[in-house]
Amino acid sequence: MGGYFSDLIEGGKSLASGLAVTFKAMISPVVTVQYPREKIEITPNFRGHIELTLDAEQRIKCIACGMCEKSCPSGCINVISEKKEGEKKKSLTSFMLNFTKCSLCGICCESCPADAIRYSNEYNLAGFTREDFIMDLVKRLEDKK
Ligand code: SF4
Ligand code: SF4
Repeated sequence: MGGYFSDLIEGGKSLASGLAVTFKAMISPVVTVQYPREKIEITPNFRGHIELTLDAEQRIKCIACGMCEKSCPSGCINVISEKKEGEKKKSLTSFMLNFTKCSLCGICCESCPADAIRYSNEYNLAGFTREDFIMDLVKRLEDKK
């Protein structure tokens, strides 16, 4: 009989301490948001897939030198350029990124002499196939405009 009451007391204590934790959580400030209805601001240090940058006149800064392509350890970049008639320099036509192989190491950003690539703040990429993550960054930039 004594064991029965001591079990009852122990159970009551355990219930009370569990309820105390629950109550404390109920009155604590909320740290989550109702995604996707609410979104939090992404930290500037977040590393999303790389993206091309624009100059003050909203032109793509990339000069198609190919340094990023050469320096990428995973071989995820393919810079495609052409020399248009009447122009002295090549201009960028496509910037293909195979994000399935990218380790977000940042070597491409560091090697760029024109400050033309940076990490994006894209955090909710989704797709059904591998090909969904092979993207043309020039087209992506145009679609954003
Ligand atoms: S972040 Fe690294 S792995 Fe990704 S494209 Fe740039 S150099 Fe390649
Ligand atoms: S290193 Fe910079 S300028 Fe050169 S191709 Fe890559 S993004 Fe363009």
